[in-house]
Amino acid sequence: MRSQFPHRLYTQRLFCRCCQKVTEHGVYAREAYSTFGGMDPHIPLLCCCDVCKTIFVAFSHEFVFCRRDCVNQDYAKIYGFNRIAPGNWIFFRGTPKPGIVKSIFQGPDKEIIVVNYDGGPDQKFELPKVELDREESPEGYRLLPAQSAFTLLGDYVYHAIRNQFGVAVGLVNDGEKDKLVVLLKDNTLVFITLPPLAQNLANDKLCETVKGKLSQVFPEHCDKVLVEAGQGIVFLKGLVKNYSLQQAMDACVSALPRVRGCVNFTKIQVSPFITDSEIENAVYELLEAPGMHLFDYKVSVSGGKVQVEASCYSGERPKDIEMRLGEIPGVRDLICLVSEISDPMNVELCREIETELSMNSLLHGTSIRVSCNNKKFLLEGRVQSTIQKQLALFTLLKKAKTTAVENRLRLK
Ligand SMILES: [Zn+2]
Repeated sequence: MRSQFPHRLYTQRLFCRCCQKVTEHGVYAREAYSTFGGMDPHIPLLCCCDVCKTIFVAFSHEFVFCRRDCVNQDYAKIYGFNRIAPGNWIFFRGTPKPGIVKSIFQGPDKEIIVVNYDGGPDQKFELPKVELDREESPEGYRLLPAQSAFTLLGDYVYHAIRNQFGVAVGLVNDGEKDKLVVLLKDNTLVFITLPPLAQNLANDKLCETVKGKLSQVFPEHCDKVLVEAGQGIVFLKGLVKNYSLQQAMDACVSALPRVRGCVNFTKIQVSPFITDSEIENAVYELLEAPGMHLFDYKVSVSGGKVQVEASCYSGERPKDIEMRLGEIPGVRDLICLVSEISDPMNVELCREIETELSMNSLLHGTSIRVSCNNKKFLLEGRVQSTIQKQLALFTLLKKAKTTAVENRLRLK
């Protein structure tokens, strides 16, 4: 499996079930993602112990480097260890639960913090002032054992019962229960049994659920796909018809309750006779289809991997463009970036020219798009002859009264 995840993204100290201790792990992905700025959720990652090479799979949304808006953000500030602001969850060591800070008053030698617990009456705490040079975790801590189900790999934690700080280093199954592994500051490893709803379904039960769902959503395509499961993770193997279908199956499985994530090893059935230039033509045809109001588009295809960049007017982004591109036979991978231009120039003039071009009988059989950006006019689409290409250009030059024109018309 290691060869399927060639890109090392990150190094993290994680628990290795073989070494039975916390070791450096390489976190590998199938694509060269960056963890800088936060990683998208649901991306399968392979964690490999640098010492013994034992591997396990986890998902980007189970790690602390996931995009913050995609994971639970309930961290509690611990009095004496964090700077506190109104709106924060706050936890005082020795109390049963955290509350929400309503307000703070700073005196010369003490602080008054008003805290609300579960919507009850506000409580006022008068506390000696604490000087903080440095916060270990400015965001706060996961409170354990209560928050074990939300804790991300790499999260700073505070174990309320043991009165110890630490860091989350793993998710393991001891043969019976799924557990969160935490390394405390005094170097003890603590295994916290996850609450019943966070326990993974038994593998055969999970397989059955996934197969049932796939046969319901993709009745014509599921018989070529093999489903395997382990510790809440679903592995798909086999053949699928096209890229869109592959992505749709992935999304369908990932969205099922009690599924940690989907590792999609399915392969796209591709005829060996489809060439990149055929794919490229099909992509252009789609981008230039009536109703697709795209312009300033660039297409590149290499080994079935398609990259499309395009612009559209604000609010006119074709909703299903990724799906339709992904259905083109031969597409193995797809990156599609469509930027919505909020203050386009000469929109009316461009439309007028487009209409004039479409009415010209000498331009019969062509499909021409006119746009204007950065004070330059663009001619895009397809024509049947060089004469038509020239004619379109002259029409534009005459109407727009400018020479800032780029003629990208393709001959077909
Ligand atoms: Zn190991």
